[in-house]
Amino acid sequence: MINTVSDEFLHIGFDDTDSRVGRCTTHLAFKITGYLLKEPSVEFIDYPLLIRLNPNIPWKTRGNGAVCLRIKAKNHERIIYYIKQSIEVGSAINEGANPTVAFFSGDQIPQGIKRFSRAAMFDILSREKAEKIAKENCIQYFTFGNGQGLVGSLGAIGCLLDKDYTFEVIAYRRPENYGTKRILNVPRVIEYDKYTYPHTFNNYDHYHQRVLIAPHGSDPIFCGIRGEKPQVIVSYLEMLHIEEKLDGYMVFRSNQGTNMHLQNEFKLSKIKPFMAGYLNCKINLKPYSIHGGHVLFAVQDSTGIIYPAGVYEPTGLTNIASLLQVGDSIRIGYGVRKATSIFPRILNIEYLHVLELNNAYDVVNPLCKFCNKRMKSEGRNKGFQCPKCKHKEIGSKIAVLKNRNLKTGLYIPTPKSRRHLTKPMHRYGIEKTYFALKDEISHTWFFSRNE
Ligand code: ATP
Repeated sequence: MINTVSDEFLHIGFDDTDSRVGRCTTHLAFKITGYLLKEPSVEFIDYPLLIRLNPNIPWKTRGNGAVCLRIKAKNHERIIYYIKQSIEVGSAINEGANPTVAFFSGDQIPQGIKRFSRAAMFDILSREKAEKIAKENCIQYFTFGNGQGLVGSLGAIGCLLDKDYTFEVIAYRRPENYGTKRILNVPRVIEYDKYTYPHTFNNYDHYHQRVLIAPHGSDPIFCGIRGEKPQVIVSYLEMLHIEEKLDGYMVFRSNQGTNMHLQNEFKLSKIKPFMAGYLNCKINLKPYSIHGGHVLFAVQDSTGIIYPAGVYEPTGLTNIASLLQVGDSIRIGYGVRKATSIFPRILNIEYLHVLELNNAYDVVNPLCKFCNKRMKSEGRNKGFQCPKCKHKEIGSKIAVLKNRNLKTGLYIPTPKSRRHLTKPMHRYGIEKTYFALKDEISHTWFFSRNE
C-alpha cells in the first residue's frame, strides 16, 4: 500500500523503544532525523513531534512519550527499510522494550486514526484495537516484543497538534558521557528562566531550589528546555554554555504543558482505572490527612454518585485541599488510580479549581449587648452571662459565618511534581489555536556534531 514512486507524504510513528535501564525514544528520533535530513529527496513537513499519551498507563517507562516524524519523500521503501532497521537495532528489546514503528502514507490523516489518538490521551487502549485501526487505514507497521508499542505509534501519527502545543529542545550527550554527572551552571539556568518568562517553562523550581531541565539517569539526554517558540528555547540552550561536548540537539513540537489528557468531563459512573479527565463536583466528605501528609476526601457529581479523591503531598496542594468543606463546588483534573489492597479506587487529583465556597458556620455563645464580649454559658438551658458586666440573658447559641481563609481559583501542583502534560499556570490564556508550518519553521531546529 505504501507509495514508492511519487513525492508522497509519509508519517512515521514509533514508541516503546526504551526500558528503565536505558535508551530513549526521542534519541532514536534524533538519530533517524539526522539520516533523513541528509537524504536529498526528503523534506520535513512538520517539526518532529513528541507526543505524551495517557500518563496513567501502568506499563509506561517514564513519561509515556511517543514520536512522529512527518516527511515528504520519493523513495518510501528505502526509508522504511532504514528506519525499521534503526528501531530494531536502537531499541532496548532484551530489556523490556516492545518497540513498534508504523508508517502511514498520505497527505490527510484519516478520522479513525485521529479518533484513536484522542482516546490514547485519556483512556487505556488495546493492541487489538490498534491493529484494527492500522488495518483499516493501510498502515504498515513492524513490531518487536509484545506489540504494545503500536498504540503509542498510532497515537503519535494521529495527533496533529493543530490547537494548543509547545516546543522542547532536547540536547543529547555523547555515548562516552552516558552515566556521568551532568554539570550545569545553575545561576545561569535561573537567570534565563527569569529572562525568558513566560516563553519557557519548567526550567527551575524556585520553591524547592531544584533544576528541572536535566534528568538524572544514564539516558542520552543532557537537558531539555520547553517553551512557546523554537528560537527562544534554542537560544536559552546556547546561553547555558554547556561545557560537556554534546552530540547535538533537536527541537520537538509537543503537547507537553497543554493538559491535553484532561479535556473531557466524565461523570463518575463512566470512569475506569487509569483514565484521565476532569469533573465538576462537590465535596461530600471533609478532607482529612493520612500518613505521609496526603489528603483524602470524597466528591459527589451531579448524578449523586460519590467517589474517593486524594491529593498527594508532593503536589504541594494538600494545604489547599485541607481547607475545603462539605458542599464546596470544585472542578478537578484527575487520573483514576486502581484499587490496591489498602486503598479503594481513587481519583488522583492533578489540579484543583475551587469554584464556589459553601458558607460554613461556627456555633458560638452570643455577644453581650452592653459590652460586646462573648458571653459564658450558665449550663444547659440556663442562659448566658457576660464575664465583664455580669449581665445575664436567656437565649440560645448563634451561628456565625466562618472565615474560610481560602480563595476561589485554580491551584496546580508545584513544578517538580508536575506531569509532562500539566499546563503551567501562566499558559492559561496564552494557548495556541492553530499551527502553520510556514509561519513557524526555524532553521535552528536540528544540530548534530556529525553534520
Ligand atoms: P519514555 O517517556 O521514556 O519514552 P514511556 O514512558 O513512553 O517512555 P514506553 O516504553 O513508550 O514508556 O511504554 C509505553 C507503552 O504504553 C507503549 O507500549 C505504548 O504503546 C503504550 N501506550 C501508550 N498509551 C497507551 C494507551 N492510552 N493505552 C494503552 N497503551 C498505551
